[in-house]
Amino acid sequence: EIFKTVDVEHLLYEVELLITPRLLAENIGFEKQIEPCMLSCYEEGLKQVVVNLLTNAIDAVQGRPEKMIRVQSACQNGMVQLSVENNGEMIPPDILESLFQPFFTTKQNGTGIGLSICKNIIEKHNGTISCESTRESTRFIVTLPLA
Ligand code: ADP
Ligand code: MG
Repeated sequence: EIFKTVDVEHLLYEVELLITPRLLAENIGFEKQIEPCMLSCYEEGLKQVVVNLLTNAIDAVQGRPEKMIRVQSACQNGMVQLSVENNGEMIPPDILESLFQPFFTTKQNGTGIGLSICKNIIEKHNGTISCESTRESTRFIVTLPLA
């Protein structure tokens, strides 16, 4: 796994290209608030993380009258914070701790491996991944050291 210096804005743009057909087909609103910065990362791994988070967000907005996903990046204190937020149903507080465990799923056809892969990849970057969920929105937050 080769780490290289990557522009966060570019990385998020490439992931957006992958996911746009589904967003359009499923009429899901998409918003980006990007603060550009450079990051030292294993690029394919980090893309995989964002794709997994977006795939979960797409699942989570199913059946909502207004489906909305927001991606943000912010850079400060030597860290970049990336987040993927959606307006799906609130995650019950008692399962928040279990989300990142391998094979934990609440979906009929889920595998439960997406978030455990995310956590592995982020930990290889000396970063963190966490989740905040309220009645208004669910937000997964990734923090990584800047290049
Ligand atoms: P899978 O998507 O196969 O279920 P994941 O590891 O990607 O596996 O996610 C594990 C579980 O975390 C999901 O089954 C779901 O319960 C919960 N989850 C993940 N992302 C979200 C989200 N954006 N909103 C609500 N629940 C989520
Ligand atoms: Mg998943």
